[in-house]
Amino acid sequence: MTKRLSSIFFLILLLSITTAAQSTTIPSPKSVLGFNPGDDRTVAGWSQITDYFERLDRASDRVLVQTLGQSTLKRPLIVAFISARENILALPKYKEIQQQLADPRKITQNLQHDRLLANGKVVVAISCSIHSTEIVASQMSMQLAYELATAQDADTREILQNTILMLIPSPNPDGIDIVANLYRKTLNTPYEGKEPPELYHHYAGHDDNRDWFMLNLKETQLITRLLWHDWFPQIVYDVHQQGSNGSRFFIPPFYDPPNPNISPLLLRQVGLMGHKVAADLQAAGFKGVLTNALYDTWWHGGFRTAPYFHNSIGILSEAASARLMSPATVTTEQLARSSTRGMRNATESSTNFPDPWPAGQWRPRDIMAMEMISARSILEMAAKFRVEYLRNFYELGRTNIEDKEGPQAYLIPAGQGRDEAVAKLVGTLVDQGVEVYRLDRELHALLATPILRRTNPVAEKLGSYRRLASLTSSQMQEVPLGSYIIFLAQPQRTNVLALFEPQIYPNRLTGQGEAERPYDVAGWTLPLQMGVEAPVVMGIREPAGERKLTLLKDPNEVRADLALPLKNGDESPIKNPVKQPVRVGIYKGWTSNMDEGWTRYIFDTFNVPYTSVRDTDMKQGALSSKFDALIFTSQSATQIINGNGVGTMPQEYTGGITEAGVKNLKEFVSNGGMLICFDNACDMAIKEFNLPLKNTLEGVRSSEFYCPGSIVALDVDNKNPIASMLPSSVPAYFINSSAYTAAADANVRVIARYAKENVLLSGWLLGEDKLSGQIALAEVNVGKGRIVLFGFRPQHRGQAWATLPFIWNALSTAANNTSEE
Ligand SMILES: [Zn+2]
Repeated sequence: MTKRLSSIFFLILLLSITTAAQSTTIPSPKSVLGFNPGDDRTVAGWSQITDYFERLDRASDRVLVQTLGQSTLKRPLIVAFISARENILALPKYKEIQQQLADPRKITQNLQHDRLLANGKVVVAISCSIHSTEIVASQMSMQLAYELATAQDADTREILQNTILMLIPSPNPDGIDIVANLYRKTLNTPYEGKEPPELYHHYAGHDDNRDWFMLNLKETQLITRLLWHDWFPQIVYDVHQQGSNGSRFFIPPFYDPPNPNISPLLLRQVGLMGHKVAADLQAAGFKGVLTNALYDTWWHGGFRTAPYFHNSIGILSEAASARLMSPATVTTEQLARSSTRGMRNATESSTNFPDPWPAGQWRPRDIMAMEMISARSILEMAAKFRVEYLRNFYELGRTNIEDKEGPQAYLIPAGQGRDEAVAKLVGTLVDQGVEVYRLDRELHALLATPILRRTNPVAEKLGSYRRLASLTSSQMQEVPLGSYIIFLAQPQRTNVLALFEPQIYPNRLTGQGEAERPYDVAGWTLPLQMGVEAPVVMGIREPAGERKLTLLKDPNEVRADLALPLKNGDESPIKNPVKQPVRVGIYKGWTSNMDEGWTRYIFDTFNVPYTSVRDTDMKQGALSSKFDALIFTSQSATQIINGNGVGTMPQEYTGGITEAGVKNLKEFVSNGGMLICFDNACDMAIKEFNLPLKNTLEGVRSSEFYCPGSIVALDVDNKNPIASMLPSSVPAYFINSSAYTAAADANVRVIARYAKENVLLSGWLLGEDKLSGQIALAEVNVGKGRIVLFGFRPQHRGQAWATLPFIWNALSTAANNTSEE
């Protein structure tokens, strides 16, 4: 070895020792996993991810990992706090600052306010892969954490000093394993990169990101506590993936329409931050970044939409997907066919899509690189404009607590029955940090109810509604003690309005006169969905000093008020509402049906026993010996009968109930069984049983009729046992659902029709005449049995509690049938 060579050798040795020394103190993801996160055809499952974060916690004084609790299937749900060492050591202090900024009533002196702004840190929450097939971000989280834990450059130091990152590697740990396990199982088979045939959240599947105000799921409950009881992040970034063939990356500004309850300042801040991300991606040489398209801010209930109603910034990114962790090939033809609201196609440049991506191979590594830049970009903004973010957050809260003209509060009057629904409604508000008071002395209040009126001539033509709800004339009434009142003058004013007001989705039509599809649902008004009366309070006679009110701290206080069994641990305390023992089967195929998952959720929550019925059970037959009632949740006849096509999935996940299953189902009903169908599944029953009913909305163009995710009124025949104890008018959830006419002499008992007039209660409805007066819920005798057809979704997303009694009543009468025999 020459002298020169040996000195180079020495240098290399020295370098590798330095690197080795660092890597022994702070482990890289590769040193733990054996691969770099994002490498083609590799995936870390949940225990690997949590193991890595535990090691990082031990090795780095910039990282503190907390377990929030357990997921639905009992995996640990974790959050990693990442910040400068001195901030990590003082987390309780910063949490207190956040709690004061979130509620300006806690700040009494100007100086104190200045001190909070001077000392506070911007808290940023980043959540990865809530949708488990959008898997790359969960892998990315380890790399992001590692780089923030080890980097020494000035930019990273500024981020660490001025921000506290709450990094959630996934809010759906169960789903990460469902996807990772299938991915490993199918690697090197023709099915490599296929999405799982089961829901990737035990109950909700993809709808796990539609639960952020209802809080049905353990995961949303735990993270809501972290975010809106404890930490109040100023910025929430939710990292997603979209389809493979469109833009490479979506980032806000969002598309129209905006939710009218979101502060314009927040919309501007969201847009500003999105443009920063887009510019940083462009500067780094990435193509195909899209803004102002497809995704809107109308709906409530998403990880990134809930923050707007807590005065915080919610950012969404959607990277184009590969095939899970395998590369995908995307052609120019595929890009050219990809069009959406705000983007003609993915090959043409425009102001909001200036640099189309030129087709080719698309790898998990590309997704990860864009997500890393995006996360960095958001953290940089937060760090550079620290005081502005803290001040804006505080100011929004301050504006909300000011007294304003118009509605003062919402009221949930005592004594309306439906105690479990009242307890759930009030409980979910308390769990979100909304202030709810119990009246310990009666009050006198001016009460009003919002109604939608048809007065706009253009909308009138389409049978739809004007954009403003008006109030019924109000009058002073005595409000009994034991009622609950939710004042609007509180930091979460906009959240209360967004949950209690009827939504009036604007008429948005395409150039061809068809309805422009909203990104998600158009209406969700919570008291309506739950069948709970909640009038608006326009004024209160008693001055503030004469009222006797108690602020609720725990949902169990409401249960105690209503003499309901208390919740203790994970068990749902609700008593089974089905009056007789009944053997219920709920059909479960391999086509990942969220409606089926939510049905199980509702049955588990109400402690109604059931069995999941698989394709093999249906094909085997002898159903009458096992079940009194079979439920088919909303899915098409093709999905039920044929399932996944042969060759599209590993063989065990293909095929449906087949003709043999249909034959057994017919035998079950003619022997006296009850078949219950929800929405789309009714088509199967009508066709296979040749029922004298017709879905009048089938094949109707959206220029004639359109009603996406909205609440509509039913006229109910409550003399029918299936409608027993229900009011004569019930709100029901309609989501591109069904309406029926029956043949004149048909033996069809109609239980509910869509209301004759003013059928829309919240959301969007075009072509009211197509819906009003049509059959919404009916039963038909077949042989010794019965078929019950729900045109709507009686348990939609676990939210539509107003219509659950129809299900329990139907099952109670199914039990009657068998006990008589
Ligand atoms: Zn997603």
